Amino acid sequence: MSANSLHSLDVAHHLHPVTNLRRHERQGPIVIDRGDGIYVYDDEGREYIEAMAGLWSVGVGFGEPRLVEAATRQLSKLPYYHVFSQKAHAPSALLAAKLIELAPAGLSHVFFTNSGAEANDSVIKFVWYYNNALGRTEKKKFISREGAYHGITIAAGSLTGLAGNQKGFDLPLSFARHVSRPHYYRNALPGESEAEFVERLGKELEDTILAEGPETVAAFIGEPLMGAGGVIVPPKGYWQKVQEICRKYDVLVIADEVINGFGRLGTMFGSETLGIQPDILVCSKQITSSYQPLAAVLIKDEIYQVIADQSEKLGVLGHGYTTGAHPVATAVALENLAIIEERGLVARAAAMGEYMRAGLARFADHPLVGEVRGMGLIAAVELVADKATKARFDPVGKVGLKLFDRAHDHGLIIRAIGDSIAFCPPMIITEEQIDEMLRRFKITLDEVT
Ligand code: PLP
Repeated sequence: MSANSLHSLDVAHHLHPVTNLRRHERQGPIVIDRGDGIYVYDDEGREYIEAMAGLWSVGVGFGEPRLVEAATRQLSKLPYYHVFSQKAHAPSALLAAKLIELAPAGLSHVFFTNSGAEANDSVIKFVWYYNNALGRTEKKKFISREGAYHGITIAAGSLTGLAGNQKGFDLPLSFARHVSRPHYYRNALPGESEAEFVERLGKELEDTILAEGPETVAAFIGEPLMGAGGVIVPPKGYWQKVQEICRKYDVLVIADEVINGFGRLGTMFGSETLGIQPDILVCSKQITSSYQPLAAVLIKDEIYQVIADQSEKLGVLGHGYTTGAHPVATAVALENLAIIEERGLVARAAAMGEYMRAGLARFADHPLVGEVRGMGLIAAVELVADKATKARFDPVGKVGLKLFDRAHDHGLIIRAIGDSIAFCPPMIITEEQIDEMLRRFKITLDEVT
C-alpha cells in the first residue's frame, strides 16, 4: 500500500460500518471500482461475481443504462424538492400509486424515507401516534425475533435481534421484545415435527403477549423470510399462526420486506409468497436496485385515517426527512420497477432461484454442510463442525470468515453469517452464470475445508 493510495487514504480516514476496524486497518479494503451486470471489478481490474447483489439489493444488476438515464433526466428537470407542507412532485406521487398497485390488498398510503432503518423508525412512530390517537397510550411495545435485522438506528436497532449490532451500544431499548426465530433445523426439539414446532413458537408468542399484557403490545414485526439473520425460511403455517395470534390481541402485523420485496422470493412481495396480510409493509433496497437511497412504508387505510385525523387535531404530522421522497430516487425507482415488470424479473427470480437452489443442494453431501436452505433467489449453506450433532465451529464464524476472504481470490463475493454462506445474486443472473458462481464457491469450499 503506497502512502497516498486509495487503500491507505481509506484506512486513514474512513470509518466503515459493520466492519472490524482493526482488521480493516491490517488488511486494507478491496476498492470496488465499477460494475457490469452481475460482476463488479476492483481498482486493479479483478473481476468478482457479486453473489450478494451488493447488500441483497442490486436486483437489475450493475450498469443498467435506463436507471442512469432516469436519474439524469430527473436531475436536469428538478434535482431536489421536498414533500413537506403540501408540496408534491411527479415521481413520488407516481411511485406511491405504483407501490399501492403492486402491494398486498388494504394498503393505501406510502411514506418515503432514505433507508430501511429510517423506515422502521417511522413505523414505530406511526404506530405510537396511531395508538395515542385511539387513546391506547400504553399500547407501545413491539415484538420482534431473535436473528431479525431491521436496521441500526436506536429504535430500529432495538427491533434487530442480532447481538453483533447491539453489543456495546446499550441496545435494545425496553419497548422491544424478542421471540424465537423460526429456524426448524437449529431450533426444533429432538423429534419435534414442523407442525409441532410452529405450535410451540405460536405458544411462545402468545405467552409473551399475555405476560406483557395485550394492552401494552402494539405490533409484531418480521421479515417474511429472515435475511441478514441467516436466510431463515419459516416452516409451513408459521405466518398463519403468528397472524392468528396477533389478530386475537389486536396487535398489528408489520412485514419488513426490505430484502424480500420486488421479486426476491419469486413474487412481487414476500407477503404474497408466505400468505401475510400486513397492516404495514416496509420496503427498500430493490425498490431502486439501490442505485439511489430510498425506502417506503406502506400503511393500511384504517391506520392512515386515524393518523390523518390526528394530524389535523395536533396541527401537523410532525415527522419527515429533508431528502425523503427524493425526486431523483423516486424517478429511479419508477424506472427500476418498469424494468422489473417489462423483463419479467419476478418470474425470472423464481426460475433462476429454483436452478440456483438445485445447484446448492448438491453441496448437501459435503461433510461440513449442515443445511442448504432458501426460497426464490436467496439461499444459504450452513457449515457445521459436526454434521451428525449440528455442532457449530468454535468460535462461531471461524470457517465462514475464512471462506468469505478466500472467495475473493476466486472472483466471488459472498456473505458469511456466522458459518452460513448466503447467496442473493442480481435477478438478471443466467443459468450459465449460476454454474460459474457455484464453481467458484466449490473451489473455495474445497480449499478451506
Ligand atoms: N430491514 C431489513 C429486513 C434489512 O435487511 C435491512 C438492511 O439490510 C434494513 C431493514 C435496514 O436497511 P438500511 O440498511 O437501509 O437502513
